[in-house]
Order: sequence, then C-alpha cells, then structure tokens
Amino acid sequence: MPFLNYRLPFQVDHITARQHGGPTDSGNLAFACFHCNRHKGPNIAGLDPATGQVVRLFHPRTDSWSEHFRLEGATLAGLTSIGRATVQVLAMNEPEFVAVREALMMEGVYPQPPRSA
Ligand SMILES: [Zn+2]
Repeated sequence: MPFLNYRLPFQVDHITARQHGGPTDSGNLAFACFHCNRHKGPNIAGLDPATGQVVRLFHPRTDSWSEHFRLEGATLAGLTSIGRATVQVLAMNEPEFVAVREALMMEGVYPQPPRSA
C-alpha cells in the first residue's frame, strides 16, 4: 500500500526473518505497510496456488516487481510462481485492500508500479 495514503504507520520488516537468520541490515530490511507486514510475519516462502509448489516469496531488494506482478484493474496478479505465492501469503487481494487501491486509482494518487531494471 502506498506510504502517503496509508493511515497506519509503516513498519521496518526483515525480508528474511531473524528466526531464519536474516540480518538486520539495509539489504534485508523493507519498509512495509501494516497489512503486508502482518500477513508476511516470519514467512519466507509460500505455496504457488497454481501448482501447489513451495516457492520463496518476492524479495523487494533483489527481484523485479514487473517481472512478478501486474495490476489488472485494482487487483494484483502474480505472473510467476513467486508472484502468485507472494500475493497469496500477503493477502494482497483482500477485498478491502482492493477497494482502497481502486479508490486511490480513481483519485489519481496510486503510484505506478516500478519498472524493471
Ligand atoms: Zn503493503
């Protein structure tokens, strides 16, 4: 969820949780909204709903957003097994979350997804 439009404070999240040996350094920290951080918890992997296979989650420091995700209206589609598992684990398409995204898009304040490098 975009930082400027979110009422709850953002949280600094360990991408690889400390319980899995993830370090507390800038390469392993992400600024996450409460919703994403709450759903991610210590997870580092999820099930790809298309195949049932265990795959690692999207890594916001090293993975390309546009390789793994695409906006379809206000719904986030996973393009890869990593993208699909991340959408699932982080519950990124919960109805109220999609509704907020839709409202921000209608107001013209939803940021464009980052371009791949
Ligand atoms: Zn979020």
